[in-house]
Amino acid sequence: MGQSADVSIRFWGVRGSIACPGPDTVRYGGNTSCVEIRCGERLLIMDGGTGLRELGNALLAAGEAIDVDLFYSHTHFDHICGLPFFAPCYARGNRIRLWAGHLLPDNQLETVLYGMMMAPLFPVPITLLDPQVSFTDFRCGATLDPHPGIRLRTGPLNHPNGATGYRIEHAGKSVAYITDTEHRPGALDQAILALVDRADIMIYDSTYTDAEYPAHANWGHSTWQEGVRLAEAAGVGTLVVFHHDPGHDDAFMDGIAEAAESCRPGTVVAREGMVLRP
Ligand SMILES: [Zn+2]
Ligand SMILES: [Zn+2]
Repeated sequence: MGQSADVSIRFWGVRGSIACPGPDTVRYGGNTSCVEIRCGERLLIMDGGTGLRELGNALLAAGEAIDVDLFYSHTHFDHICGLPFFAPCYARGNRIRLWAGHLLPDNQLETVLYGMMMAPLFPVPITLLDPQVSFTDFRCGATLDPHPGIRLRTGPLNHPNGATGYRIEHAGKSVAYITDTEHRPGALDQAILALVDRADIMIYDSTYTDAEYPAHANWGHSTWQEGVRLAEAAGVGTLVVFHHDPGHDDAFMDGIAEAAESCRPGTVVAREGMVLRP
């Protein structure tokens, strides 16, 4: 752990839709969305896909009491399915606060996650995790101040059933987490532009390439090229290509990395285990 003012990001899952382990995805990784963001002594987690399992094991191995806030972009399965396998949920004394901004007023996070962990889908009911796991629904667009010196601005994304984009601010640094979202070709998303304005780092839904996108219109996802356009328009520092299509193997991802680097030098393609500091 670094200085109290440090912000660091570690990627535990970088895929969209479904985990895709195998020999062709070992370098970029096969786990679904899960990103650790350290703000000084505080640990924030963005999404709880399959990458959350390994993060949980690493936290337990560190041997310290665990106190985390997990912010969901939304509750599609690839972003929540790691929770039942997040071992800190089952070890007494840990504090785990779960947040979501896309469900009110028709639904609530606890109800949705309860449904995922209900028989006959899963043997351990979520009620067994109480009281060390708490659930907070907020209205997307709200500003959250979960701890002194840590602020999250939120905004709506364009995705079936809704999703929340986040901008995390700490110690003069800013990291935007923007997934899952679909762009409208030819018109930059004004809500996203406002949220990511001059962010040091923007992690962006880059499921497709621009060439692939027309065959997937209305599926709720964007492209790395749209990430470049947004990053340029908003004056973002580093663009991080994220939420890779499970059909994109390592060779294909290498091609995206090369193309993105020549299009906007310094662009990073997320891979499991990668650490970034704004
Ligand atoms: Zn997704
Ligand atoms: Zn989704």
